[in-house]
Amino acid sequence: MSEVKEYKCPSCGAPMDFDITHQKMVCRYCSNKYDFDYIRSNFNEVTDEKPSDFDWVERTKYVWEPDMAEHIKEYVCPSCGGNIITGSTFSSLKCPFCSHNVIIAVNFKGDFRPDKVIPFKVKADEFAKKYKENIADSKYAPKEFKNPEVLDNIFGCYIPMWLYSCNCETVIENDINVSLKIKDYPILATDINKNLFYTIEPFMYDEAEDFTESCLTGFAAKRYSIGAENAMESADSKIKKTSRLRGYSHLNNGSYIIGNANHSDFTDKQLLYYLVPVWFMNVKYKGKIYNFAMNGQTGEFAHPDIPFNRQYFKDYLKILLTPYLVYVILAFWEICNSSDPARDIIEVLVVPLFAFSYFLIPLTFIIHCFVSKKHTDRLKIKEGSEAAIDDFIVGDVKIKLRSDH
Ligand SMILES: [Zn+2]
Ligand SMILES: [Zn+2]
Repeated sequence: MSEVKEYKCPSCGAPMDFDITHQKMVCRYCSNKYDFDYIRSNFNEVTDEKPSDFDWVERTKYVWEPDMAEHIKEYVCPSCGGNIITGSTFSSLKCPFCSHNVIIAVNFKGDFRPDKVIPFKVKADEFAKKYKENIADSKYAPKEFKNPEVLDNIFGCYIPMWLYSCNCETVIENDINVSLKIKDYPILATDINKNLFYTIEPFMYDEAEDFTESCLTGFAAKRYSIGAENAMESADSKIKKTSRLRGYSHLNNGSYIIGNANHSDFTDKQLLYYLVPVWFMNVKYKGKIYNFAMNGQTGEFAHPDIPFNRQYFKDYLKILLTPYLVYVILAFWEICNSSDPARDIIEVLVVPLFAFSYFLIPLTFIIHCFVSKKHTDRLKIKEGSEAAIDDFIVGDVKIKLRSDH
């Protein structure tokens, strides 16, 4: 099998791409459409190279993690013969010479083949709409963020991740048994901005398709670089911690004793490898990159903290200065016609102007900012938004005192 593959239309031979609206492969030339079932049975996908009883958990006992460091690889385009140079974990891309979308099939062979894929359901237009509503239209953002050209950078990418299930039994100080069951705990399997990814999580995993690489055409795709073993290890330590917390809160009303003897056993481990769809966009501003993302299945949008647009404050001041000037003119008129100008200068001019400058302008500005920013902030990237173990516990946590029997 060649390292790189392309989906060509069975009726005319032109390249086909995945179409979000139809959820099918569509020919660029004759517009014929083919669904995933047709593709799976007619396009020699590499499914047969992965045994049907393949088990990620068993495999990690015998096989070392493959080389996960990203390095540069060179492939040959099956359409035009051009040399495609890309990072070794990129699995789907556009040939720079003939612009056909190609799949780096070696990244889906054997141990690299995902179990499931969630095809893109939401289009890039939706990303553009949400970006416009929340960022570009906000008075807050500097003009670099409002430039419509930034939307040319939107790109769709399939991100690798693991869903982990297991049973965990923990013995604490030989005294108490905590057992709990975890189902489908999501673990990001590549090195991208974690907070950004977990903010647009969750995906609706039950809507995933059995893996077919056809739906990756036209999008970028990455294979996992955090292997099964590492993923389970990090999840196990979190599950262990949760078990201990539950046990200790039962034992002595929540006081947690660090370093005390306890031991966890994990059974019925199951790991599934998914590719999930994410729209990304970057904006560069004053030497810093700002990452935006949208869940390609649910449309959940997330953005970073946007720097404040100083020009906005200047414009705001200009608008406020107009009534300010009118007031000053009226105040002078009043003072000129006054019987006690000295008192009026204080009462009509100095005190109100002082109040305006030091109190009213900043106050109205803060209120204005607060109202316009509040709408945007609910979509902001959440720090430490990694999925909490507690949300993936199925059924009750069983806590038994050993002295009970
Ligand atoms: Zn065709
Ligand atoms: Zn090419």
